[in-house]
Amino acid sequence: MISERRTILAVLAHPDDESFGMGGTLAYYSAQGVDVHLICATRGEAGTVDPEFLQTYTDIAALREEELRCAAKTLGLASVMFLGYRDSGMAGSEDNKRPNSLVSTPIEEVAEKIVAEIRRLRPQVVLTFDPVGGYHHPDHIVIHKATVQAFHAAGNANHFPKAGKPFQPEKLYYNALNRGRLRWIVRLMRLSGQDPSRVGRNKDIDLTVLASDKDTPPHVSINYHSVEKLKHQADACHASQLDGRFTRFSLMELYWRLMGRRDTFTRAFPVTPDDYRGADLFAD
Ligand SMILES: [Zn+2]
Repeated sequence: MISERRTILAVLAHPDDESFGMGGTLAYYSAQGVDVHLICATRGEAGTVDPEFLQTYTDIAALREEELRCAAKTLGLASVMFLGYRDSGMAGSEDNKRPNSLVSTPIEEVAEKIVAEIRRLRPQVVLTFDPVGGYHHPDHIVIHKATVQAFHAAGNANHFPKAGKPFQPEKLYYNALNRGRLRWIVRLMRLSGQDPSRVGRNKDIDLTVLASDKDTPPHVSINYHSVEKLKHQADACHASQLDGRFTRFSLMELYWRLMGRRDTFTRAFPVTPDDYRGADLFAD
């Protein structure tokens, strides 16, 4: 029997999630010849950008889509698929209520689209956000729920029969944050007079909430030192999201310094003991 190509599917919400969050890992596996595909649910319509970035684009979505295509090429991704929902913005914002916003869409509908992609691409490994969406972004939480549902439904012919021939991926991982390190960052920020509850370009990240969330087990740690340059270049593609004094970029830069160029993942399936430690997403 000819073995199938090694394939990873990352299911995320916005242009830049793929680079800032797990870009090192995606580049690492692409460089090893793994087919790494990305589903991006929205085109990041609710992000804010400085007007200078919009001069050659019709709108924010067009700009951010282009930024994602630049990052995908840099990371070596095999494909990028947009689900076509609208960025919902942060919890309670007006963007939540816009037609076609991801948060106003039934999870079942989003899951069916993800199932169709799983059945088409046949990945062994599926990656997505953790249950709190990393930093409580409502779109991240929707994508987490829809991906979990899709992962478990994809192999069952009775579920979503119109979404293609059943295929069951082997492993599901959540991007895990090391919140112990984040607690340090919160302390450092307070000491230096910065407000850890309003961080990021859109001032939408509350590190104090993040730091108080429960850690999920760091089952697999990917050392992406060999492709670190590509990860930085991919981050740079998202230029409209990088400026400002304390951007997500510099936050992440600080985070990487502390983490030593590693991404950590919690294995949600198969069920894995808390003390399992590995260095490869494909390993049993
Ligand atoms: Zn996002």
